[in-house]
This record gives sequence, structure tokens and C-alpha cells, in this order.
Amino acid sequence: MAGRLLQVLNQLRRELPTDYPVRMRRRRDLCSDSNGTCTLLGAGKKRRYSIVIRSTISLELAVAMLIHEYAEALAWGEDVHSARWAREYGRAYRAVHGD
Ligand SMILES: [Zn+2]
Repeated sequence: MAGRLLQVLNQLRRELPTDYPVRMRRRRDLCSDSNGTCTLLGAGKKRRYSIVIRSTISLELAVAMLIHEYAEALAWGEDVHSARWAREYGRAYRAVHGD
């Protein structure tokens, strides 16, 4: 399961590069009650997006969450779930699932 999710992340990294690297972790407990989070961490050369996906959800939901959070990295700096985010979400969805 972790392998398939990493495949999806690598596909996103290849097709939709971000301004800072994206790291992904699975965690049983998240600080929010959502199933995924995306935050921009670090400074200078260590600046990176940290995507955390809940480890107890199905692979199908984990892929959906990864696409959602990756789009937040692509649209970083805008209000969360902005129109820009929606466009990036569409691009990320198509990169993973095809047109
Ligand atoms: Zn979100």
C-alpha cells in the first residue's frame, strides 16, 4: 500500500514540479481531524512541503488525500481551497488518473 502511494507521489513530482520539494509521511494521528495535511516547513535549502496522510485510511482515500494535499503545495500562498487550488487539483487528478 505504501508502495502504491509513493508511486503516485513520484508521478506527481515528475509531471507537476513544485517550487520546494514535497515530502510525505503516513501517521496514525494527525493534529487536525482531517485525513491529510500540507504545510510548508523549514528555511533556506531545507524549505519543503510536508504532506502527512493518515495511515489508517484505505489506499483509495489516501490517493485522494494525496492529490488534494499536493494541489495545496502547488497553489501555496493563496487562500486554502482557492480557485487556483481547484485548477491545480484538476491537473493533479488528471496526472494520476488520466484524462
Ligand atoms: Zn485542503
